[in-house]
Amino acid sequence: MTASVKIEIAEDTILVGIGASPGIAIARSHLVNRARINAIERRIAPEEVPAEIEAFEEALEASKRQLQEVKEQVPQQGLSEHLYIIDTHLLILEDHMLVDDTKTLIGSELVNAQGALARNLKRLRQIFDSISDEYIRERRSDIDSVGDRVMRNLVGEVRENLQDVAGPVLVVAHDLSPADTVQMDKGKIIGFVTDVGSWTAHTAILARSLGIPAVVGLETATSMIPNDLPMIIDGNAGTVILKPSDETFREYLRKKKRFDYLEKKLEAFRSLSAETKDGHHIALRANIDLGEKIAGAIEQGAEGIGLFRTEFLFMSADGPPAEDWQFDTYRQAVEMVAPHPVTIRTLDVGGDKFVPEFNLADEVNPVMGLRAVRFSLKEVGLFRTQLRAILRASAFGKARVMFPMVSGVGEMRACRQFLDNVKRELRQEGIAFDEQIPVGVMIETPSAVLIADLLAKEADFFSVGTNDLIQYCLAIDRGNEHVAYLYEPMHPAVLRALKQVCQAAEAAGIEVGMCGEMAGEQLYCLVLIALGFRDLSMNASNISRLKRIMRQVSLQEVQQILDRILVLPTATEVSSALEAEMLQRFPELFGSLEI
Ligand code: PEP
Ligand code: MG
Repeated sequence: MTASVKIEIAEDTILVGIGASPGIAIARSHLVNRARINAIERRIAPEEVPAEIEAFEEALEASKRQLQEVKEQVPQQGLSEHLYIIDTHLLILEDHMLVDDTKTLIGSELVNAQGALARNLKRLRQIFDSISDEYIRERRSDIDSVGDRVMRNLVGEVRENLQDVAGPVLVVAHDLSPADTVQMDKGKIIGFVTDVGSWTAHTAILARSLGIPAVVGLETATSMIPNDLPMIIDGNAGTVILKPSDETFREYLRKKKRFDYLEKKLEAFRSLSAETKDGHHIALRANIDLGEKIAGAIEQGAEGIGLFRTEFLFMSADGPPAEDWQFDTYRQAVEMVAPHPVTIRTLDVGGDKFVPEFNLADEVNPVMGLRAVRFSLKEVGLFRTQLRAILRASAFGKARVMFPMVSGVGEMRACRQFLDNVKRELRQEGIAFDEQIPVGVMIETPSAVLIADLLAKEADFFSVGTNDLIQYCLAIDRGNEHVAYLYEPMHPAVLRALKQVCQAAEAAGIEVGMCGEMAGEQLYCLVLIALGFRDLSMNASNISRLKRIMRQVSLQEVQQILDRILVLPTATEVSSALEAEMLQRFPELFGSLEI
């Protein structure tokens, strides 16, 4: 257990963190010691170097064996799509930055294996900490859990196996690795809370996929919560209630019943089409970052993939992935989702998305710097390889290619020209591809909005990336918590921008979709349909909710809602009007969980 003095807990003490996985769980706490091992660094003599390197190699081997064992358990738990997490950990165990650099340190600094590993892990963590993109920064937790495992094997410490926990309990831990999470038996561990973590960490992703309520980022959970304490996890609100009174207990039992009932009911919508009452179909697709996520997305009712963020392939591989490897990944994706399409976005690196291998120059203002297509058009070797792989995959299903962060017609033409050259190459080589592969442009900059009519002549479809468009439109850094309150999707400027894009697409007769986070928000979906979006791509877990909403409205009704909010002058007024409207129409989805 974590060595700390527990303070007396008052009835109904509330801790606030981040709701990482929705749902309510009520049980007693079970503290799990996942504290990091403290390495003891020791100077060694030159003749000790081989023995320390050998000890390190044995620890790596033991770690591999353990992960292989975890991997074998994964499919039995119905989580085979998450095998990639274990595979990622296995890959990290072979990464030269971990393996070779630690061995080098043992010899060059004459320190024991524990000391060298600790130093190297510290360096790797610093590299990840310097990245401002939340998703990528969270990949640091993968390095942490692999590093911890190797260190434990070096030191010879045995951990409590979460499968041996006698349930039902609520696990309380400083941190949990994805490997811990996939091993959880839902019958025994019915919820968990951690001191650290965020919404995008793999542990949170897995918790959502397993349907285990979780609250992370509580900071003080392990120092405040004693073992065997009655508690409640509210993953919807991101709160934990310690020592609930009888009244609170009954209140949460009611909330839990209500939530579980609603989720079950929503499952029935997965297989239905997202169609308005008057027969307008909206394609609800999934955003993915790794091919392994596709099976889960299809299960949740996604009609294909609306955004394949390919930069993550470049981060998980050792160096830029080869053409054949990319081709296999894209081909599998198009084959899996057939007859629906997969929209493959070319590399969106730079800005806040950092790939160490690319040695991007330090930029004063990277979000406005050499990112996305600007980078691809400079690093033409990488661009060519990726386009060849995408085109080759297009022969096996419905692939669409899309360019990110285009800010002008010239850039779009340069991308298309490049694509045409690659097509010519493939033709000469006699390699099959879809000659008619649709080519899309992401609308993510204010300039792209203002010239949407001109860009529409250069593209087969638009996909609005609101995550970036909102930040550039409102001049609000999407990753800066100090201005997060100004990041307003319902800002009249954003609504006008979206309207302009939809009108330009309609006038040119091209499709317009959205793949920013806004597309999956239940509050906004009717506004988006009214604006003209017919293709929304999102985190797949939102799909059944949106289907449920869309099937209950007609286009005429949503048009009236839009007309009412478009005249409001502030985001607050728009949001309030919209919330009132949605609550009235869908009390079950927008109301509190009280019965
Ligand atoms: C966006 O900007 O909305 C988008 C989908 O791209 P990303 O979040 O990857 O920048
Ligand atoms: Mg973007």
